[in-house]
Amino acid sequence: MFVRLDTPAQYVKWVGPQRAKMLANVGINTAEDLLKYRPFRYEDRTNFRLIRELTPGNETVIQGTVSCAGGFSTPRRRVQIFEMLVGDGSGTIPVKFFNQPYLSKVFSKGQQVILYGVPRMDSYSQGLAFVNPDYEILVPGSDLTVHTGRIVPIYRRVGKLTTRSLRQIIFHLLQNLGESEGEPLPENVLEKFGFPRRLEAFRLIHFPICPPQQDQREFFQKLQSWRTSAQRRFIFEEFFFFQLGLQIVRRKREVMPKTRKIRVNEIIRERIKQILPFHPTSAQKRVLKEIVADLCGEQVMSRLLQGDVGSGKTVVAIQAFIAIAENGYQSALMAPTEILAEQHLRSIQAFLKSTPYRVSYLSNKVKGKQRKAILAQTKSGEVDLLVGTHALIQEGVEFRDLGLVIIDEQHRFGVIQRSQLMEKGGRPDTLVMTATPIPRSLALTGYGDLDVSLLDELPPGRRPIKTVLKTEKSRAEVYSVLDRELEKGHQAYIVYPLIEESEKLDLRAATEMSRHLQQDVFPGRNVGLMHGRLGASEKDELMDNFVEGKIDVLVSTTVIEVGIDVPNATLMVVEHAERFGLSQLHQLRGRIGRGSHESLCILMVDRVKSREAYERLDIMRRTSDGFKIAERDLEIRGPGEFVGTRQSGLPDFRFGNIVRDRKLLELARQEADRFLKSLIRSAIDPRLEIIRIAEEWRRHYGLYEVG
Ligand code: ADP
Ligand code: MG
Repeated sequence: MFVRLDTPAQYVKWVGPQRAKMLANVGINTAEDLLKYRPFRYEDRTNFRLIRELTPGNETVIQGTVSCAGGFSTPRRRVQIFEMLVGDGSGTIPVKFFNQPYLSKVFSKGQQVILYGVPRMDSYSQGLAFVNPDYEILVPGSDLTVHTGRIVPIYRRVGKLTTRSLRQIIFHLLQNLGESEGEPLPENVLEKFGFPRRLEAFRLIHFPICPPQQDQREFFQKLQSWRTSAQRRFIFEEFFFFQLGLQIVRRKREVMPKTRKIRVNEIIRERIKQILPFHPTSAQKRVLKEIVADLCGEQVMSRLLQGDVGSGKTVVAIQAFIAIAENGYQSALMAPTEILAEQHLRSIQAFLKSTPYRVSYLSNKVKGKQRKAILAQTKSGEVDLLVGTHALIQEGVEFRDLGLVIIDEQHRFGVIQRSQLMEKGGRPDTLVMTATPIPRSLALTGYGDLDVSLLDELPPGRRPIKTVLKTEKSRAEVYSVLDRELEKGHQAYIVYPLIEESEKLDLRAATEMSRHLQQDVFPGRNVGLMHGRLGASEKDELMDNFVEGKIDVLVSTTVIEVGIDVPNATLMVVEHAERFGLSQLHQLRGRIGRGSHESLCILMVDRVKSREAYERLDIMRRTSDGFKIAERDLEIRGPGEFVGTRQSGLPDFRFGNIVRDRKLLELARQEADRFLKSLIRSAIDPRLEIIRIAEEWRRHYGLYEVG
């Protein structure tokens, strides 16, 4: 029976209803999904040896005949052992399997078998033996093997499905797949890069074959690092459709002219300047110019404003707001949390104190009459700037004429919310602000639908933050430094890591610490404890108290990570600093050094376990440049943690790794661009083609809509 790519997984041979459920749990629903379940590594099981030549401790493959087989159990230890003897003419070797009694029905005398494993000295027989090797029983008259005698794929387990079962399923699936399946990549791309066609490529990523002209070892190395042409094909395919999607979004924006006309004349320029109590940095001037050009342009703005913590992004956003307000339109500023939104409100109100602009605030906390009033004022146009949280994109919030949407700390919002907001109220201009220093190369390729502006300069007069590494030995010393700082009237953060796997333990440690500090170390001070389990109003109250100076020491898990601005906080102690990513540490450290006082960041390490850990943290001591730190972080940790969906709003790729494969990502971007251009030039109706691409996009990235 032939299978198609869209055949439900359940009907694929060796799957059935029960296994299908396990597969569905990890999103594998069709034959195609199974084929896209990629091996995470490979084993070369072609290294055949004679039994006589076997040496202990090396992975080897043998082929031989079962000469006797039987199971027994050791009653005392309740272990069931199945044992057999395999010979190949050069010698014989005992083979033991633990706790797999069904094997007595699998093996029988006279069978031809291949075994793959590591022979070890067996104390029982005083010779070499295989224990739990991988095996294959040969069918007389056929030399087809799945698990041995070739380079085999190793998969991550899915539920109870072992790598062996998955291998068996995928092997048979590939054998039964009809040949007429579609090819989503354009022919000229396949040719240009020498990629195998899709079906062939599926075969080769699961059951690779070294091309005859290539060195086996070299090929195997390429395979392990995802560099063979079949593997690169899938990485490319994934990136290609991702880029096409982004570029279609972008083109849609470009061809749809803006309905509002915005002008910035001398009078408005003067107003924009007036609100600043300081001189803008030259980076701020440059970025403002880029933004104003967009606002006045023919196309709707979609701009990413990247700038390190403290580089003054908010100020630029306020300036953009004034340009919009002076043209008679409204703006919205959205932050990911209540704390950050309120903080924005406070600082914006301070900037706009002596101006006629009306600023209002909306979150889910604003209820009843007050909410009604704000909604009404927003609709009637009395509100010029509405600051708030997610609440701003909810149903029921209507603007009279929304001209500009500003999104802060974008990495907490996904690509989807971004597009939701951009669609709101007649396609407003959009400015997305982020402090996550995404390396430039990645920003360009990963955010193909956005233009990028960079604030690469800090305002003058900042005192650099001093950073030191300390171990547990120096805790007393750390406390006395802390004490001196509090004595000066300053405040401090103590940060605890919180990792999902050990959340409870971590939370306990932070709680214990705040209790200890309050009772034993600083009985005369106020110590607060902030963590993610607290309700929103409790968090706000704590934060307000910290801002007002009622709390001296704030013990916290990472909820303070982004955007908090308390200039009087001059000291930060990071506990278990080795458990944080560098970029995360950088963000945390950005919470201090925000005023004119000298600030100190103390990174506590349990024990500097390895040189690597030390070197990793040492860069924090040496630089405060977020981009340098991010590049290093990428090198060390890879993108999974740094630029996963969570942090950057980029999708998680199945095959591609945007750091390892950044060259391919760039190539895919170029090809996608070329492909779209040729589509537009050609006589065929591009809409048909775009529907097909949208379908591919949906298959790759799920929910996202291209339109
Ligand atoms: P970001 O959001 O990029 O982290 P902010 O916009 O919050 O940075 O600015 C950080 C601090 O620096 C604020 O207190 C802000 O008023 C101040 N600031 C911004 N631009 C300048 C400037 N050009 N000169 C002096 N201070 C500035
Ligand atoms: Mg900010």
